[in-house]
Amino acid sequence: MSVGSRGERGVSGSAFPVSEELFERAVRVLAGGVNSPVRAFRAVGGAPFFVSRGEGAFIVDEDGHRFLDFVSSWGPLILGHAHREVIEAVERAAVRGTTFGAPCQAEVELAECVIDCYSGLEQLRFVSSGTEATMSAVRLARGATGRDVIVKFSGCYHGHADPLLVAAGSGLVTFGQPSSAGVPEAFAALTRVLPLDDEDRLRALFEAEGERIAAVIVEPIPANNGLLIQRPEFLATLRQVTAASGSLLIFDEVISGFRVARGGAAQIYDIVPDLVTFGKIIGGGMPVGAFGGSRELMGHLAPDGPVYQAGTLSGNPVAMAAGLANLRILERERAWERLEELGQRLDRELAPVLAASPLDVTLVRQGSIFWLSLQPGEPPRDAESIDAGASDRYRRIFRALLRSGVSMAPSAFEVGFLGLAHTPGDLSRFARALGEALDEAATGGS
Ligand SMILES: *Cc1c(COP(=O)(O)O)cnc(C)c1O
Repeated sequence: MSVGSRGERGVSGSAFPVSEELFERAVRVLAGGVNSPVRAFRAVGGAPFFVSRGEGAFIVDEDGHRFLDFVSSWGPLILGHAHREVIEAVERAAVRGTTFGAPCQAEVELAECVIDCYSGLEQLRFVSSGTEATMSAVRLARGATGRDVIVKFSGCYHGHADPLLVAAGSGLVTFGQPSSAGVPEAFAALTRVLPLDDEDRLRALFEAEGERIAAVIVEPIPANNGLLIQRPEFLATLRQVTAASGSLLIFDEVISGFRVARGGAAQIYDIVPDLVTFGKIIGGGMPVGAFGGSRELMGHLAPDGPVYQAGTLSGNPVAMAAGLANLRILERERAWERLEELGQRLDRELAPVLAASPLDVTLVRQGSIFWLSLQPGEPPRDAESIDAGASDRYRRIFRALLRSGVSMAPSAFEVGFLGLAHTPGDLSRFARALGEALDEAATGGS
């Protein structure tokens, strides 16, 4: 199943002639050739492969290569690609119409299902992406508290809305610096950025200006800049200082929601946030996001309250049907228990491979989310402790894995996902391929 051994090389000598031609066309008509930057493979080199279809744990590209997939569309595909029941639910919904711009039964059912899973949650609003969910939650927090300042943590990603597209600078209290052109300094100035894993800095900020802080937003299991698993005490302190100052705590569970447990990271850490955001798994592979909280807080939203928020395709019937089918299957299949078993199997399969590797590499895992920390010592808990040199080592590992038919995220700082479609045999195969890739990377192979 090795890509290099399939004898499909075109005249160019490439194993990916169709993808390369498509990418040439794409760069003419799509900015950077892609519709989301990381897909362009800039961090790992080469043209991206174009996917023609997905089948369970595998994706097949336009050149006919079949890859064992751990990207899982960046998280949504917890059941694997093209799960039959989800596809049937989509088909049944689509033939009745793809959008109505009016209420439909499926949005009530999905909301009931999500609220039943997540503690403290009484009302939801559906949107069409994780970005929209966090953007709207921040607006609601500001509207409900009458305060302007937002706090986020460096290394946490919350989508690309202006107030959250801000990275850390330095100083005791860090004022946000935009991490993108086009975000005015004046917008970023209302965002404070703190390091994860640091109670003292957190307390100091709240002492200085707690009464101005509308909300703290955090990925309770930060999984967008490596996998930075937090100490429970840090999250407990966060809950305590926000409550004490009348600020809201927003758990961004766009990745962790329905991934790490039925009740998300909130269940694992036994913390009830004031607002929660969902995306990815909640839509079963369709564009769905949601944010929610108590009935009282959600009452600030239009049409009941003064905080405006709307969407032409929000609560879309086809997307709701996919999300609902996905969640029902997860419940029925005891998904979270089984995924933890699969994760423990991954630990066992990789342990000897990582121990034998000449490179410093540690597996970091929370349930079905995993990441390879490519630096010596304990896995990092904050973004500042991540070794930037890991990128170069990862590029070689990534390319070697791709040659043996394994698809990982094209960036050292993105996590991998296990799903119910992965078998123990898939994990053994992954372990073998990773062992070879680590050897190759250590000897300086490309
Ligand atoms: C993916 C992600 C987002 C953004 O979701 P999109 O659907 O890509 O807009 C926000 N927060 C977290 C934690 C995410 O992982």
